[in-house]
Amino acid sequence: MEFKVFLRKNDILTMGIYMRILIIEDEKKLADSLAQILRKNNYLVDVAYDGLDGEDQALANIHDLILLDVMLPKQDGFQVLSALRMQDIQIPILMLTAKDHVQDKIRGLDYGADDYIAKPFDTQELLARIRANLRRRHVMLEEDELYFGDIQLDKTNLLLKTKWNQITLTLKEAEILELLMSQQTTVTTKELLLDKVWGYESDASFNHVEVYISFLRKKLKYVQSHTAIQTLRGVGYKLVEVQDV
Ligand code: CA
Repeated sequence: MEFKVFLRKNDILTMGIYMRILIIEDEKKLADSLAQILRKNNYLVDVAYDGLDGEDQALANIHDLILLDVMLPKQDGFQVLSALRMQDIQIPILMLTAKDHVQDKIRGLDYGADDYIAKPFDTQELLARIRANLRRRHVMLEEDELYFGDIQLDKTNLLLKTKWNQITLTLKEAEILELLMSQQTTVTTKELLLDKVWGYESDASFNHVEVYISFLRKKLKYVQSHTAIQTLRGVGYKLVEVQDV
C-alpha cells in the first residue's frame, strides 16, 4: 500500500502524472490543442478563456503550474499574475508571450512569472520548460524539515516535534501535514489532499481525509502544540496558531 506512494513521487518527476496545469488563454483553438497535448502527456488540465475566470480557477489553489497568456479579455496576463502573487499563490507561472516582445518578458518576470515562452512555440520545448519548472518547485518542497508556528515536521524520520514533545506519524499523516505546512496559511482543499496523498485514481473519499485530519489533530494535542488544523466548511483545511490548547 505505502509502496505506491514512493512510486508516485518518482512518477511526478519523470512523467508528470498527477500534476495539474491551468491554461489561461483566450485563443480557443490554441488553448484546446495545448490542453490536448498536455493530457496526452499525463497532466490533468483545466482551461480558462479569459483573465477573470483564470484568476478564479487559480485561486482554488489546486494547480501545480499555470500557463498564462499576456493579451486576455477582462483582465490581461499581468493583472492575473500580480493578483495571484498578491494572494500568495506561489506555484510556477509560465507566461505565453508574443514573439519578440522583450518588454513583455521583462514585465512578466518583474511581476513574478517564473518563465516565459514565445509564441508560436515548439511543443517539445514547452513540455521541457514545464517539466523543469515543476521539478524546481518539487525540489523546493522537498526540504527534510518543515516548520510552521511551534511545530516541526521531520520528514526523514516521520516525526512531529515541538520543544515539549514529539510523536511518530504514519506516512499518510506526514504527507497530509507536509501539504498543509507547504501551503502555509492558505487553504488546502480536500480535493487537493485526495489527489496528492491518495492519488488521482484512488477510490478514497473525503471521509478518508477527515479521518486522517482527526488523527493529526490528536497528535498535535499530544505534542502540546499551539498550531491547530482549522476546518473551512465545504472547502478544506488550513493551519492556524491558537492561544489556548
Ligand atoms: Ca491572447
